[in-house]
Amino acid sequence: MVSYRLARQHLVDAFARGRRTTEEICDAQPELRRVAHSCATPIAEPCPICEGDDLVAVTFAFGPGLPKHGRVLSDNAEMRKLRRRGRPATCYLIEVCRQCWWNHLRESYAVSG
Ligand SMILES: [Zn+2]
Repeated sequence: MVSYRLARQHLVDAFARGRRTTEEICDAQPELRRVAHSCATPIAEPCPICEGDDLVAVTFAFGPGLPKHGRVLSDNAEMRKLRRRGRPATCYLIEVCRQCWWNHLRESYAVSG
């Protein structure tokens, strides 16, 4: 598992120091916004940007045999299905704030299948 905590913290710090604007970092694309509303799990942390309480996690899986834009894993059943495929995949967990649309890669991990 690869954590992107440091990169995330740098960005949050840059915002706190005024070196990044919300326009630059709260830029979730329409598809990500849609998935954040339909296939997300809550994160029990405040948003690092707006401090709102609507931070969610969205997981995309990429790999051979999966759609080019990735497959959204909305629950554990989908994760089990991915593992049963017998093919490798890489999952990317993205945190998204549904209030200000801050979004950042949180972790990635391989699924051996
Ligand atoms: Zn926010």
